[in-house]
Amino acid sequence: MKSWIDSANSPDCPFPIQNLPYGVFSRGGDAPRCGTAIGDQVLDLAALEQAGVIDAGAPVFAEPALNAFMALGNGAWNAIRERLTALLAEDGDGALRDDTALQAKALAPIGEVTLHMPFSVSEYTDFYAGRQHAFNVGTMFRGPENALPPNWLHIPIGYNGRASTVIVSGTDIRRPLGQLKPPEADAPVFGPCKRLDIELEMGAVVGVPNRMGEPVTVSQADEMIFGYVLLNDWSARDIQAWEYQPLGPFQSKAFATSISPWVVTKAALEPFRTSTPEREKDLLPYLREPGPMLYDIELEVRMQPEGAGQATTICRTNYNTMYYSSAQQLAHHAIGGCRMNTGDLLGSGTISGAEKHQFGSLLELSWGGKEPLTLDSGETRSFIEDGDTLTLAGWAQGDGYRIGFGECVGTILPATAEKDW
Ligand code: MN
Repeated sequence: MKSWIDSANSPDCPFPIQNLPYGVFSRGGDAPRCGTAIGDQVLDLAALEQAGVIDAGAPVFAEPALNAFMALGNGAWNAIRERLTALLAEDGDGALRDDTALQAKALAPIGEVTLHMPFSVSEYTDFYAGRQHAFNVGTMFRGPENALPPNWLHIPIGYNGRASTVIVSGTDIRRPLGQLKPPEADAPVFGPCKRLDIELEMGAVVGVPNRMGEPVTVSQADEMIFGYVLLNDWSARDIQAWEYQPLGPFQSKAFATSISPWVVTKAALEPFRTSTPEREKDLLPYLREPGPMLYDIELEVRMQPEGAGQATTICRTNYNTMYYSSAQQLAHHAIGGCRMNTGDLLGSGTISGAEKHQFGSLLELSWGGKEPLTLDSGETRSFIEDGDTLTLAGWAQGDGYRIGFGECVGTILPATAEKDW
């Protein structure tokens, strides 16, 4: 299918008519509102709604967050997607294609807008569902025989994170301060994190809530998910190593979590559904999947030191390697009675493939700092240094088109100076 917006028809365009991801944008300091990306343009959904060209059943798009639209559920999501497809298709409805006045109001080049947080994050939960990642980290700390904790093949392990520090791509991140205790030291010291890391993850965005005390099936959980973003779960490994037992990460994960600005819908990803891998141990019935719940999404991580002419790709992997799907994680989250809200964000867990170049964190890529990476600039890195920019990118590759997620970018600023705290 082709669009009358030519830039959307190039095979490597991240935002063809098959994608139609949702985000929030503003232009020239005006009020943030909802939009979709098509080719190199942003289409203003608030303007289309106001002109009576689209209708979600209630006014939802003249808002600085997608939450009102996300809460409407699959019926409204599908109806709006169908309507937008008709408006943008080469041979579709002419209501926008033939109305240059409306186009002038509703279309803007992506390069001329500011992209904001696409939704208001009600809560953020992070999982640990990548088997290779869990195996790698477990091997470093406990040896290969005891790498996977005994619950790992039965439970999608997670912890409750911070919604307050989920930020949109492009937001700089200050190096965290905290307690550090090198293994050989008797007591901790206070200072800037020295082992700052990324975690390459996908984020699932909950649209429809469940009621407190009412579990959902994996299939119902899948229906509740509005879409997916790229997610960088920035991690302070040295702070984490000292604080994490027995209740899990706390400050080491609370300083920043970056997401990409466009939420790619389940409908756009539908052709790329794939199954979780063979179960080594049967899952309890409430976690069994009725069909394929993962997606074939190519992922990469790029690292660029300050002043370097270009970024180096340090990881290439695929979301299809995860052991648990987001639908399973959401069903597990709700099974005990927890209410999941519109705007809940679930981090998939670090996505690492089997090969070294497929590892989704520097902890794994440099094997705990023992094997530093050499970047294209000739510089070496075990962990992130001040001024480094890390970029996650992802896309699902179709036949002659791709469903792009865009990028999730963050640059590390030096820690607050000692005299200032
Ligand atoms: Mn994580």
